[in-house]
Amino acid sequence: MSAVIEVENPSTGKTIESVPDLGPVEVEALVATARAAQPAWAALGYAGRGRYLRRMQKWFLDNADQIAETIHAENGKSLDEANIEVMYGAVASAFWAKHASAYLADEKITSRSPLVLGRKLVVRYQPVGVVGVIGPWNNPLLNNFGDVIPALAAGNTAVLKPSEITPLTSVLMAEMAREIGLPDGVFSVATGTGAAGAALVEHVDAVMFTGSTRTGKKVAGRCGERLIPCSLELGGKDPVIVLADADLERAANVTLFSAMHNSGQTCTSSERVYVEAPVYDEFVALMTERFESLRVGESTGFGTSESGSLTFPPQLDTVTRHVEDAVAGGAKALTGGGVRQGEGRFFEPTLLVDVDQDMACMREETFGPTLPIMKVADAAEAVRLANDSAYGLQAAVYTKDLAKGQRIARELQAGTVTVNDALANYFALELPMGGWKDSGLGARHGRDGIRKFTKRQSILVTRFGMKNELHGMPFKATNIRTLTRLIKTLYGHPRNTKD
Ligand code: NDP
Repeated sequence: MSAVIEVENPSTGKTIESVPDLGPVEVEALVATARAAQPAWAALGYAGRGRYLRRMQKWFLDNADQIAETIHAENGKSLDEANIEVMYGAVASAFWAKHASAYLADEKITSRSPLVLGRKLVVRYQPVGVVGVIGPWNNPLLNNFGDVIPALAAGNTAVLKPSEITPLTSVLMAEMAREIGLPDGVFSVATGTGAAGAALVEHVDAVMFTGSTRTGKKVAGRCGERLIPCSLELGGKDPVIVLADADLERAANVTLFSAMHNSGQTCTSSERVYVEAPVYDEFVALMTERFESLRVGESTGFGTSESGSLTFPPQLDTVTRHVEDAVAGGAKALTGGGVRQGEGRFFEPTLLVDVDQDMACMREETFGPTLPIMKVADAAEAVRLANDSAYGLQAAVYTKDLAKGQRIARELQAGTVTVNDALANYFALELPMGGWKDSGLGARHGRDGIRKFTKRQSILVTRFGMKNELHGMPFKATNIRTLTRLIKTLYGHPRNTKD
């Protein structure tokens, strides 16, 4: 019998199922099948593919409970949080069914270059072929199958390699593909370890990777060697800035959600907070109250728990190390502070104060139910500390002065900044989302979130009988003078420029 991976429920520690651990040859075979299926899939056009995506949308809604339970069982997040992933799947299927054709329509280009006057210029977008999607364990649907949807909408076929920790949701997606009648080979799942991910990178035409910065750099390196496009959504250490004029209740409620959603195991979780001195005590008191009220444990139905288990076994060690290092350095844990005893992998929601910028909890991605809060003198110090990070995924600013909030947003080194909000941007599928610095390359959502799965082709058409100015042009002084005049007319005289 070939090797298998046993999948555990992190809330109970019990094995719930097993999936095949595919080797490189099996992964290569999946890509070959996907490659064979791709031309017919592309030939269906946007309308034909859109019909399948609409069926997918319906399937998500018809099977919402089963999908949420599968996510909950293998990841440990609450059923309510699992349901957010299900809703994302339904919304994304509808979104890409509707918008793919507009985002990828031929673009007519107008050039002011005197050398191509009268030519027709067009840019078109063609599917790359087979897209390899490699996903993490923290969002088994959202950051796995979620990226398959635009890849398919663009006319590619896709092979998904989910994390070995949470493969069951992806296996369920393969079942969905069969039930909605998706042609064979259009979408398949390569269950396996990191080796299966590495094998996938060897054979596909483009890679969409979501995961740690460490693995992302390896994947990008190999894609670079193969000269295939790759888009990377990596880790984060998202800062929150609370200014003295903020609506503190809102800042506390939203920060609680963004820090504790999925027990902090979200790439875009709020991981560190900088609060202006005049409102520091009040904000800390509001957060303490909220942290204390969280119900920790396995959810036994909707609305029964706010803080689920940690999914990946080594996460318990990372979170523990960050808290212990902070406390040893002089920080105080106002709530929680350690692993919850008993069944499953639960960590108590832990609010840390008296932290400093050099502690591990302020510098490294914690990915757990903890939140360090630091007092700052003013907005300038908050911005400086927020930007003092290897990561640049998201950031949030809280202030009632919206102009100031947007000014500060522009000073922050992050791919996305929210003013008086957090995480909501993820559900605006028109808005690109992607990290700066060690948080990634490329974007998901919006125009860039589908064009990355295409090859761009530029076409220049010269009508029969047109004068061949470019090739025939003898660059004599008279022509240079004519050209200079033309350029001045089209683009202005250089002396009128400011620099
Ligand atoms: P990893 O980088 O450990 O793994 C991600 C995926 O890559 C897994 O499927 C893994 O397989 C696979 N993999 C491992 N080694 C290789 C390899 N050499 N070549 C190809 N694939 C490989 O990340 P985690 O699963 O631990 O996910 C958590 C991380 O993901 C966090 O840093 C988080 O911030 C980030 N993330 C970023 C998001 C974003 O949008 N920016 C969204 C969600 C998460 P296996 O698990 O089987 O080893």
